[in-house]
Amino acid sequence: MGEAPALFADDSLASFSNGLHLKMHEFETATVVGNKTYVIGTTDDATSNGVRIFDKSTGEWVFPTVLGTQPKAFNGHSTMPLNNDKILIIKHNSNSNDCVWFLEVDTQFVQDQKVKFDTEVVAWSKGVIGDTERPIVISGPSGVGKGTLINMLMKDYPTMFGFSVSHTTRKPREKEENGVHYHFTERNVMEEEIKAGKFLEFAAVHGNLYGTSIEAVEVVADAGKRCILDIDVQGARSVRASSLEAIFVFICPPSFEELEKRLRARGTETEEQIGKRLKNAKAELDQGTSSGLFDHILVNDDLEACYARLKEILNLDGKTDAIPKTSTDEVFALPTDFSLSKFHEKILINSPNAHQKIVLDLSCIKGGAPGRTRGLSMYITDSNTDDGNF
Ligand code: ADP
Ligand code: 5GP
Repeated sequence: MGEAPALFADDSLASFSNGLHLKMHEFETATVVGNKTYVIGTTDDATSNGVRIFDKSTGEWVFPTVLGTQPKAFNGHSTMPLNNDKILIIKHNSNSNDCVWFLEVDTQFVQDQKVKFDTEVVAWSKGVIGDTERPIVISGPSGVGKGTLINMLMKDYPTMFGFSVSHTTRKPREKEENGVHYHFTERNVMEEEIKAGKFLEFAAVHGNLYGTSIEAVEVVADAGKRCILDIDVQGARSVRASSLEAIFVFICPPSFEELEKRLRARGTETEEQIGKRLKNAKAELDQGTSSGLFDHILVNDDLEACYARLKEILNLDGKTDAIPKTSTDEVFALPTDFSLSKFHEKILINSPNAHQKIVLDLSCIKGGAPGRTRGLSMYITDSNTDDGNF
């Protein structure tokens, strides 16, 4: 298990029980997980991207591929290894709703990425106090009415839902806006970004590249909204394998003829593109309705009836829009310096000057990289018991 975390003064030499001596810079921490020591907080070295790893088994430094958005400023933080697969990072001098981060070092997601990249990989995930509802993945053949249904939801519940704006290499349609409907991009740029690990999922659809960036999902979660993803069946399969824990909805047309009619009536594609989309629709309908991938399959015959069913699935029956409640916890300031200790699923934030303890409760932790780690609770307690009832 890991060494006790510590914050070191500028260029001090830190020694570890595994015999390692490290030269540390100001605001860096070193946390041991297994054979590896993760030095977090490097800001002056572009190659390290905030994290470098000393591998005791090889005696070498490794600069990993760093996925996800890392915390902006490392002006002091404390760390603690958790379950041998991630490191908890709590920033000093911040607020309770903006201080918790996780560096995943060996979670399932990171293990998968290590295979994919054939390099050492670590992934950042920001901790979110409280719980936001599960994201929704909507798939279905082109022209079935996904966009129409999503627009209805976004119009009726603007503060509750946020749309995950995908990247695509296809050209914008007449009324489409860059950054609103899609991030329109070039294939070579998108391929580079995929290689750099910026995408939660991507797929070639109807001859173009489409993908959901990790940032697209994070932006929605940070606004305290429930994320809606409009992606194809291949993308849905990738998301199902990720830690996003979404609800998967597949939309079917009442008939193939009706699908064709809608696609033509929309008037946004050339005859050649319509042909390609209809051909692909057959396979998509087969996969969508038979793979067991989707939690709900809806037939979009009568639009209002389909929308009502979608709202039912999302527990919106009879509800009107409201400011989303992401947390029942009060926001408060953290001390400038503290140490961490662990008691079962609770992390105690111990400041030498404070009488009260701050408790971070991880017992309802959900999600993780890519995206956000949700379900955290943080509160202040006067209690000083030894039985963990903080
Ligand atoms: P998608 O996003 O799945 O490609 P759209 O939402 O753009 O599909 O819908 C395709 C066309 O079908 C649009 O012109 C839309 O107005 C129309 N449409 C959507 N749902 C229905 C429905 N239930 N009945 C008739 N037309 C519909
Ligand atoms: P369109 O070109 O009509 O906007 O979208 C074509 C198809 O691409 C639709 O099936 C849509 O769901 C899918 N799509 C849109 N964005 C993404 C994405 O980010 N990832 C994946 N895998 N598919 C997407």
